[in-house]
Amino acid sequence: MRKKNFFAGPSVLPVEVLEEIRDQIVDYNGEGLSMIEASHRGGMFEDMYDECLATFRRLLNIPDDYDVYFLGGGATLQFTMIPANFLLPGTVADYAKTGSWANKAASDAAKIGKVNVFFDGKEGNYTSLPDVKDIKPSENSSYLYLCSNETIGGIEWQDFPDTGDVPLIADMSSDILSRPVDVSKFSMIYGGVQKNLGPAGATFIIMKKSMLERRNENLTAYMDYELHSKNKGLYNTPPVFSIWGVKLVLDWVEKNGGAEGMLERAKKKSSLIYDVIDSSSFFHSPVDKRYRSRMNIVFRLPSEELEKKFIAESSAEGMLGLKGHRSVGGLRASLYNALPYEDVVALRDFMVEFERKNG
Ligand SMILES: *Cc1c(COP(=O)(O)O)cnc(C)c1O
Repeated sequence: MRKKNFFAGPSVLPVEVLEEIRDQIVDYNGEGLSMIEASHRGGMFEDMYDECLATFRRLLNIPDDYDVYFLGGGATLQFTMIPANFLLPGTVADYAKTGSWANKAASDAAKIGKVNVFFDGKEGNYTSLPDVKDIKPSENSSYLYLCSNETIGGIEWQDFPDTGDVPLIADMSSDILSRPVDVSKFSMIYGGVQKNLGPAGATFIIMKKSMLERRNENLTAYMDYELHSKNKGLYNTPPVFSIWGVKLVLDWVEKNGGAEGMLERAKKKSSLIYDVIDSSSFFHSPVDKRYRSRMNIVFRLPSEELEKKFIAESSAEGMLGLKGHRSVGGLRASLYNALPYEDVVALRDFMVEFERKNG
């Protein structure tokens, strides 16, 4: 029996996708060759890649004046590439420090240029977000940066600031395609694929082409977005296996109602757990209700001892990955797109029963 997979990343994949990989891994569509042993310059990979990019464009309604491609290096490499390309001398970059991931991005950017922190959630222990109406980019801002969903803290932006002419850049690693998003509001959206889109390895890049006109042109090859734009991510060897997995996951998303369908799923699943938390004094969510994440639900029990017990007993029942990140403790249930509804029902029932026995 398959485990119930609440890991934050790498994370659950649709079982249909795993079965398709199993069926196709030795002989892809009767070609007598595996996708993962074919040249990335050959037709078989490129046909699959082009379909993958086209489906991604359809699912997110990505306008034609945007590039879409995949790179290696994880979301983490983008923490450096973004300021290296766009944080030009004499300008600043505006960052929201909303938790682990945005803070890492801001700290890397500060090594490259001048960073203005327009919001710092530190005092509130990163449990809330700024009101988008209050956000104004700096006068000489090169871009404004945010992380749409803090995977570790469990907070998610529900809408996004209007930054006018200043490019808006977002790390959407952990909530991409969990809801529709108006891509035209952003100049760049990127993220690792291993949370919501596929097996670890690839990083998706969605970038308005005009961004390339305002970049630092004096960069080494891999660091330069223009080179990747020209080669649609195939300047060097791409993470082939990961991209193939992403292609299959995107097909699965399309079959299951696209971004709207994923939003419905996410609402249904997350409210099962939040309803238990809200109707109990045993469970407790530290996060500001207005910004609670539908992807990563962070919660606490009355004591660390009970939390340990909860993790041990849930894991004995086949529910994995419920331990909170080591930096914040507590518990965290990640409910990515591919996690079946029934698995969340099982967690809900487990929580209710655990409170009855220990509350
Ligand atoms: C996981 C995660 C990252 C880091 O991704 P890597 O691919 O491991 O570099 C960055 N940002 C967010 C929001 C994440 O969830």
